[in-house]
Amino acid sequence: FESIFGYERDELLGCSLDELVPNEHLHAHSQSLTDYLKAPVARSMYTRNFAQAINGKRKDGKIISLEIDLTPVFIHQKQHVIATVCDVTERLEMERQIAQSKINLEKEVVERTIELEQAKNSAETANQAKSQFLANMSHEIRTPMNAIVGMTYLALRTSPSLRQRDYLDKITHSSQHLLNLVNSILDFSKIEAGELELETINFNINDVIGNLHDMMAERILEKGLGFNVDIDKTLSVPLRGDPLRLEQVLINLVGNAIKFTAEGLITVRVYPVNEEEDGMLIRIEVEDTGIGIPKEGIKKIFKSFQQVDDSTTRKYGGTGLGLAISTGLIGLMKGEIGVDSIPGKGSTFWFTVPLQKGELVLDKVIPPVTLSRRRVLVVDDQPYACQILSELLRDWDMRVDALDNGADAVLAVKAADDAGDPYELILLDWHMPGQDGLTTSRQIKVLPLTSIPPRILVTAYNKTQLIREAKTAGFKTVLIKPVAPRILLDNITLALVGENVNQANHNLPPTTFDATVLKGLRILVAEDNIFNQQVAQEVLEDVGVIVALASNGEEAVEMAQLSLFDGVLMDLQMPKVDGLEATRQIQAIPSLANLPIIAMTANATSEERDRCLSNGMIGFITKPVQPETLYKKLAELLIPEKKPVDRLATKDDALLPEDNEAENEIDFDVLGAMFQQNSVRMAKYIRRFIETADETLVDMDMAVEKGDFPALGALGHTLKSVAQTVGAMPFGEACRELESFKSGGELERAQALVKGLHERLARIRVISDRKFTN
Ligand code: ADP
Repeated sequence: FESIFGYERDELLGCSLDELVPNEHLHAHSQSLTDYLKAPVARSMYTRNFAQAINGKRKDGKIISLEIDLTPVFIHQKQHVIATVCDVTERLEMERQIAQSKINLEKEVVERTIELEQAKNSAETANQAKSQFLANMSHEIRTPMNAIVGMTYLALRTSPSLRQRDYLDKITHSSQHLLNLVNSILDFSKIEAGELELETINFNINDVIGNLHDMMAERILEKGLGFNVDIDKTLSVPLRGDPLRLEQVLINLVGNAIKFTAEGLITVRVYPVNEEEDGMLIRIEVEDTGIGIPKEGIKKIFKSFQQVDDSTTRKYGGTGLGLAISTGLIGLMKGEIGVDSIPGKGSTFWFTVPLQKGELVLDKVIPPVTLSRRRVLVVDDQPYACQILSELLRDWDMRVDALDNGADAVLAVKAADDAGDPYELILLDWHMPGQDGLTTSRQIKVLPLTSIPPRILVTAYNKTQLIREAKTAGFKTVLIKPVAPRILLDNITLALVGENVNQANHNLPPTTFDATVLKGLRILVAEDNIFNQQVAQEVLEDVGVIVALASNGEEAVEMAQLSLFDGVLMDLQMPKVDGLEATRQIQAIPSLANLPIIAMTANATSEERDRCLSNGMIGFITKPVQPETLYKKLAELLIPEKKPVDRLATKDDALLPEDNEAENEIDFDVLGAMFQQNSVRMAKYIRRFIETADETLVDMDMAVEKGDFPALGALGHTLKSVAQTVGAMPFGEACRELESFKSGGELERAQALVKGLHERLARIRVISDRKFTN
């Protein structure tokens, strides 16, 4: 006690307990001392709780902490209590410090967590703001792009000069490139913002790979690479998933494989890795024999905007977004993506996706719909956009009105309906001053009309939310600007199918016509518009007609002289030599005087018809070409004289010598060896060659026009190697001679060579068509 409390022994004796251990502290622990002493029990008074510690007071006033143990004892029939007192000041202090640092630590953890939470929130907000910004930007970019792409398309129809056509083609090409970029950025921002939604529909993996091949074939051929596809047989069953997004990932991976491979082979493998009752996990691999990726690179490339090294951009182009998007898409599909690579040897990019089993779906057959004379309303506040859409629609002979705001549109729809000549289709822009497209559509939906016209939303704003809202506002579909004419046509057709609006004038008679009588007919299609070329070609080839294409009047005249054709479908407005002039020139050639020529035009007036018929043409077909009408017309105008089979026989006989010469144009052994005699692929390759040669010849014509020998030499060089790979030996030989003009030469000889190439190409076109159509 002396040392604990700092008193002398004498001072302590008789000292009050209250003074040494102040009462208030004791009270916190037990009843008063007197009460305790009446019935004492053994107890230990000590607490770790600092605030409630039992304090003692030393003589010098200093407060200390105590542990007190009380032990009751009975001595000589008297109750005593032995108290042991221990100074625990130091021990408690240490414990207090430990407790405090624990508290501090916890506090710090809480603070850090809050900070992190805040950082995360603000990052998320920033991310959303960024995505929103990107979405807006893409809209802002798309709007002028719409004008550029659309106007270029319109300009291409106005018979531009060769040089102008070349410029316009290049604008189209560059715009497409820019558009792809905008699409990538938007996809990426959508994935980041969690806005991208996947579809779940029935599909067949073979179709996905087939499309992929079609899309990539040209680039693969250009680089002279091999392409192998290996799809496990068990995968020919229908599956459920998002085929378009799968294709997008594959396009990216195969695109990279092509880009980073100078020679060798690209292989796409598809196989199931494990199968369950209602679905399976499939694995797709894209293997290349390219530059490969070093280990450090692999870590980076799946992140956005990352490339293996910065020189990549300069050497190969690209944004570093493709793999980031692919990774996002595969993640959404609950799959995995990765790569195995050996630098210098090649890479294998792979991914897995779980897919459900699907049901067999038959292709939707779109019945033919006549667009001609149908009334359509275009509503867009942007004059350019309005003009582009209107002109496209007029090309298809639709009756078009255009307005620049929603309110007027609603009134116009009502007025047209009242007047008994209702609109049958409305194309609405979304974002317009005043009321937007969605509101306008909703208002039209509730108008008291004899029938509500189908509506299509055409917008530069590609947002999932908007597309969803559009569906609820009653839109048939949403098209994103710039809209390709082909896509517009398909969607208009779809929108009009099944709409029983004012069809009285348009109903087609039931079809009983058997188009197989046309099989084997040889038709030269002269048409400058590539969309229309494609339509005519596909529609005719569907029924076994052999088609050759000429893309202007001059070419048509040249090709007609091959004397291979049973008839010509002649567009009227074409560059160089128009349809009427070409007809005159063809008919001036004695051997061709009786070649049947049928006009094909978007100008459906009776004056136009008269003009054609009085200029030696035997028939008149309006665009857009309706397959049924075209077949009937051809049968009516070309068949009666002789059965097509006979015609084929006579032609072949008559042409034997010339044919033999023609056959020499292509060495099919060379071509066959390259494609293991696979005729589908041979045909595709040849067709691509013809397209490439066609384009290059345009450039050559220009180079000759300008007397630009270096350009001529360079063009000859490129075309030479392509020609030799397909086995077009004489063609290649002529190109080789042109190549030697690179440092100058005789213009006349160059002209003759280029002219010769045109002729050879025309022959190649015909023989390849004949070989691969049969
Ligand atoms: P981009 O190709 O637009 O640059 P990606 O995200 O598709 O963007 O690819 C990122 C990078 O990954 C490429 O720049 C390249 O460095 C590397 N890479 C991708 N695929 C291959 C491949 N098949 N071979 C070699 N490197 C590749």
